[in-house]
Amino acid sequence: MLLKNKQIAIVGGGMAGLTLARLLQLKEVNVKVYERDFDQSVRVQGSTLDLHEGTGLEAMKRAGLLEEFYKYHRPDASKMVVVDRFLNIKFNEHDFAKTMAEKRPEIDRPPLRDILLHSLQPNTVVWDSQFVSMEKEGDGWLLHFKNGTSTYADLVIAADGANSKIRPYLSDVPPIYSGVTLIQGDIDDAEKSASKLFSFSKIMAFDDEKMLGFSTKGDGSIMFIAAFKCPENWLAQSNINFNNKAEVFTWFKTEFSNWSNDWYEFFTNGNVQCTPRPQYFFPFDQSWETQGNLTMIGDAAHRMPPFAGEGANVAMQDSFELAEVLTNGIFPDIKTAIADFEKDMVARGADATKETLKNMEVMFSKNGLQQMVAFFSAAH
Ligand SMILES: Cc1cc2nc3c(=O)[nH]c(=O)nc-3n(C[C@H](O)[C@H](O)[C@H](O)COP(=O)(O)OP(=O)(O)OC[C@H]3O[C@@H](n4cnc5c(N)ncnc54)[C@H](O)[C@@H]3O)c2cc1C
Repeated sequence: MLLKNKQIAIVGGGMAGLTLARLLQLKEVNVKVYERDFDQSVRVQGSTLDLHEGTGLEAMKRAGLLEEFYKYHRPDASKMVVVDRFLNIKFNEHDFAKTMAEKRPEIDRPPLRDILLHSLQPNTVVWDSQFVSMEKEGDGWLLHFKNGTSTYADLVIAADGANSKIRPYLSDVPPIYSGVTLIQGDIDDAEKSASKLFSFSKIMAFDDEKMLGFSTKGDGSIMFIAAFKCPENWLAQSNINFNNKAEVFTWFKTEFSNWSNDWYEFFTNGNVQCTPRPQYFFPFDQSWETQGNLTMIGDAAHRMPPFAGEGANVAMQDSFELAEVLTNGIFPDIKTAIADFEKDMVARGADATKETLKNMEVMFSKNGLQQMVAFFSAAH
């Protein structure tokens, strides 16, 4: 086996990193995951995820965790409505929720991460390990972390997300700005503080070449996004302090001025935490010279705007495809195995990116609402 007596370092304990660690441990590989979060109790934010056949679900199946997954998935999370800016319902997916829940079952990120974490051997994840740099040592790498520690690994796998600090060791191809920025809002106590909006379960609203959307979660929280077209430097020039709810609310009222005041509930009662996320993607034909001791998976390799619901799914597919080539005994050496993986991964990432950009064009068009209603109606 190619990885016999090798030490593997996965940097980043998100969906991609943890799935890969599980799959490698099933093949008795020595693997550690270095994660910047202080410990397991750090709250995982973000949207509810629907896992797809052949990608996210396939990863859970290969990890032997499908049964666990179905214990925690949320059939109700598939109940989505498409509305206009005044919250008038234009398409109701509730009638199809059962089919959707079967085809693309949804799960909140915290239970998904817990399932993966619990499946790992004790002390696999080294918490509070924010990667800062590395240099070559022997055939491998010496990695350095913000907490002052260092560690050696024969093979390093970057799973540290969209702003990967390891990616530059492989590729200097910069990401391309998509033309859309989104503000992500997380409200812990939304069931109480934004009860009117919370009662919708899941919403997508399109108008004015903008989008508002949210999904409610099993713990009573909400993640919403307010997405709009703007130049790449909007964030730097906006001077908004995103830690200050009042400042973000003032911006929201101006940017979404023709929209119903009912949306204000996001900002009026609860404790909303806002994160601005300009959306970038990598060129479809990106390439780099394959190395035998370093590769990348997930958003680190193919970040993309989240308008096709594919990012986490493709990331989890990367994990099982990489685990496969490294452990199936077909390849003569690690570099050849990685080369085979990277060729398909780049193509897969490009396909998903094209899909999300195509959706974006529709969603943020002048008649985005009509087009999206037609899209969902046709899909059902
Ligand atoms: C608003 C929004 C909605 C989305 N909705 C969907 C959806 O519905 N469906 C879908 O499939 N995808 C969705 N995505 C995309 C999805 O979240 C990502 O594609 C997915 O999380 C990528 O997984 P990953 O493991 O590669 O990266 P991440 O999930 O970002 O994980 C990276 C991990 O690395 C850690 N890390 C980062 N830097 C360091 C460092 N220097 N050292 C150590 N650790 C580090 C982080 O703490 C994190 O745990 C959405 C994204 C956004 C922003």
